[in-house]
Amino acid sequence: MNINENYKNLEESYLFSTIAKRVSDFSSKHPDVDIIKLGIGDVTLPLCSAVIKALHNAVDEMGYKETFKGYGPEQGYDFLKNSIQDYYKKFNVSLDLNEIFISDGAKSDLGNILDLFDNNNTCLVPDPVYPVYVDTNVMAGRKIVYIDANEENDFLPLPDDKIYADLIYICSPNNPTGAVYNRVQLSKWVDYAIKNNAIILFDSAYESFISDNELPRSIYEIDGAKNCAIEFCSLSKTAGFTGTRCGYTIVPNNLTFNGMNLNKMWLRRQTTKFNGVSYIVQKAAEAVFTPDGQKQIQENINYYKQNSKVISDTLDKLSIKYTGGKNSPYIWLKCPNNMNSWDFFDLLLTKIGIVGTPGAGFGKNGDNWFRLTSFNTYEKTTEAMNRFYSLF
Ligand code: PLP
Repeated sequence: MNINENYKNLEESYLFSTIAKRVSDFSSKHPDVDIIKLGIGDVTLPLCSAVIKALHNAVDEMGYKETFKGYGPEQGYDFLKNSIQDYYKKFNVSLDLNEIFISDGAKSDLGNILDLFDNNNTCLVPDPVYPVYVDTNVMAGRKIVYIDANEENDFLPLPDDKIYADLIYICSPNNPTGAVYNRVQLSKWVDYAIKNNAIILFDSAYESFISDNELPRSIYEIDGAKNCAIEFCSLSKTAGFTGTRCGYTIVPNNLTFNGMNLNKMWLRRQTTKFNGVSYIVQKAAEAVFTPDGQKQIQENINYYKQNSKVISDTLDKLSIKYTGGKNSPYIWLKCPNNMNSWDFFDLLLTKIGIVGTPGAGFGKNGDNWFRLTSFNTYEKTTEAMNRFYSLF
């Protein structure tokens, strides 16, 4: 029996455990300090009332013989796929129902999709990066090449003809940098992918935070993308589903390589290895797309956006450089005086009791950068940024 030795090549992630340890060491020595966490990557507002009502109704349906549901379609119920199809029409993207696959979230599908690709493929990831893209490929022994996302390119790297890759990861709005590609920039990636016979794995988990109408919310807003891209989205940040679990992946019918169709392969993969998302959760997800649901989730997103504004206004006043904030829940700031991101972490913790995330945890290009998030309360965010302003 041989095991998958690629797991030996995974780097241990000490980021969040190190942060937790430093915070608890500090708190035990200074129990009087009111620590404010602006490193939170999870949502904090509860599910909206339209979703709660749908959940209750679906639970009741499960209690009667006439409306009880057993196994559903592995790729999701049509009622939810119809809602997603209509949602995409708002961005002038037309999807066939069979191109939409319902999942328990973007993270699973980002990992699972790799079943469709040969382990000899090379994948291209930006640095800094959401670590899931790297680790899922390390597990399969795939070669990874990095493209720099840095101050020079506003953390939005563009294709480089000298780099060859088969699988290209793009996350926009980006975690951790909050940067968002515009149409011209995304078109360059689409052209590059088509030229290289490559696939773009496009993570749009934060698309609902885009308020600038000029910025694309789906890669399919770009001509040609249906010939080269798979899109992963999630209700986690859009509608507070991080604990409820529901996402969707779009695999266009056009994607055929060496005579094999990726949509058909993904359907085969899902029907073999996945038994679908629960009916109750899919009913809750459907409610997100109703007029009431859309209005209510927008109120929550606006609440987080108000927090982003408090953070970015403070950074503007202090002339500290940052990306993100306006179309993303993340603010990625340059550590003042070119400080290293862990030193900056310690400075904020020990001087003003603020916790953020050191950029170094996302890649070498994050060494002098720092991530703040808008998921705390308005009151705490305001208090944190008042302290931040006084310190600098
Ligand atoms: N993609 C990005 C960039 C994320 O930051 C996250 C979660 O933080 C996910 C995907 C995972 O989303 P889900 O909760 O749908 O699995």
